[in-house]
Amino acid sequence: MDFKYLANILFPNVTLTEEELEQKYPPRALKEGAIVSRMAPSPTGFVHLGNLVQGITSERLCHQSNGTLFLRVEDTDQKREVEGAVETLIDTLKYYDINFDEGATIDGDFGVYAPYRQRQRKDIYHVYAKRLVEQGMAYPCFCTEDELSEMRTQQEALKENFGYYGKWATWRDKTIEEIENELSNGKPWVLRFRSNGSLSNKIKFTDCIKGNLELTENDIDHVLLKSDGIPTYHFAHAVDDHLMRTTHVVRGDEWLSTLPFHIQLFNALGFKLPKYLHIGPLMKMDGDSKRKLSKRKDPELALSFYKRDGYPAQSLYEYMLTILNSNYEDWRRANPLTSPSEFKFSYKKMNPAGSLFDSAKLLDVSKNVVSRMSAEQVYTQACEWAAEYDVELYDAMSKDAEYTKSIFAIGRSGKNPRKDIALWSEVRGYIDLFFDEFFEIKDSYDERFSKTDIKVTLEEFVKTYSFDDDSNAWFEKIKDIADMLGYASDMKAYKQNPEIYKGNVSDISMFIRIAVTGKLSSPDMYSVMRVLGYDKVVSRVNEMINKL
Ligand code: GLU
Repeated sequence: MDFKYLANILFPNVTLTEEELEQKYPPRALKEGAIVSRMAPSPTGFVHLGNLVQGITSERLCHQSNGTLFLRVEDTDQKREVEGAVETLIDTLKYYDINFDEGATIDGDFGVYAPYRQRQRKDIYHVYAKRLVEQGMAYPCFCTEDELSEMRTQQEALKENFGYYGKWATWRDKTIEEIENELSNGKPWVLRFRSNGSLSNKIKFTDCIKGNLELTENDIDHVLLKSDGIPTYHFAHAVDDHLMRTTHVVRGDEWLSTLPFHIQLFNALGFKLPKYLHIGPLMKMDGDSKRKLSKRKDPELALSFYKRDGYPAQSLYEYMLTILNSNYEDWRRANPLTSPSEFKFSYKKMNPAGSLFDSAKLLDVSKNVVSRMSAEQVYTQACEWAAEYDVELYDAMSKDAEYTKSIFAIGRSGKNPRKDIALWSEVRGYIDLFFDEFFEIKDSYDERFSKTDIKVTLEEFVKTYSFDDDSNAWFEKIKDIADMLGYASDMKAYKQNPEIYKGNVSDISMFIRIAVTGKLSSPDMYSVMRVLGYDKVVSRVNEMINKL
């Protein structure tokens, strides 16, 4: 077979050369050890936790090593593409602080290795496709869908492996006449790789995360170009990651099964193989057993779920670090106030089997993250969330920004800040008592307390309350009321002889708390009153007195 002739009739329009491409996309001038990696998502509109895992891992490795991270849009499957998906993807990743140095952006492609959208790289792929044909390493296949499914049925009946290989690869050794005949009839064709692999051969391979692996060679003549001339993932991966000078490919371990084929392709093309990091799946507990998070069963797989439910972006980010690097949690404990970007992320600390995603743990991390924020940060982020998901709350919070910030400042300073908020969607329930439009008496007095005691407490409180009191003086007055009504003002004394008291000073505080906040529990009462102001405190207490 004259492969050169075949290459010319299959690809008559290729004018570019490999030399030109090598020159146009030269090796990057980077310091020793700098990692170049990419995110290469398909624009399906569904951005999920797996994207975040891959994004954080590659972003950290690139930026920690003064390397480069780029975004390549793998839009070769037009059927799955959704309008606006690229924008959603870029916005979502940015929201989680995954910023690219080059690649596809909302305003077009940015960077010298452009274009970064695969459909625009058709001419480039054809240069290499043509060369593989010239070397006898690729050939056209004219099989129809029906023929391929018939082949599958036969393989099933004969209990043979599925796929286009060996004797099943009908077009592998056809003559040039047979090929030209189909071409002249205008029959669609795909370009297939001519595999010389055998299932009885093993390849030794070291993956950065999975370690030493022994893989079976690939014997399948996989498709390189589809009938519209657009490449498959595999072919585009080899060509793009070579020309874009990727040093490390970070991707999900669902690609491990086709890695032997990728190795063959890089070899056939004469490209240096990048390093690979195959990330294990995210799993969850389902009853007593672990299973992979699934798009169909688990709404929490979608990143939109977290935004809507008000998870601060940093919380999800930090939680991901916790499950991706086994030493992150200890580091965080030792460095509670340091930015996570100071943490030395390492792929050596990643679990080859994947990570367990635990929503309860995420909430816990989130409480800590929010507790470390300033009142200003809480205010800004809670407002951003509310503007989109709870406009009524947004209006209340933004009416008087200083007032709202003073609410968030309660209990925030000091070594052990309060941990009341994990989600922005919890803010309403936390701050509603400070706004007349939301304030309501949610909890009621326990029947075991006499109405008279409650009433007297409230009356005495109004009589003695002074806005100038410091917290000690304020509490002394509460204690006085306790003494006056036969409630213990000294907790130690109460614990020794509870039976001689009607209750203790915390009950007296609670009588006032329900009147002022409407709830049995609230942040520090003294601070709450400072924020509410004298008039509001007194009018709420009076209102309760009238109701009793
Ligand atoms: N488009 C592929 C995917 O979304 C990219 C895999 C890779 O990173 O190479 O799974």
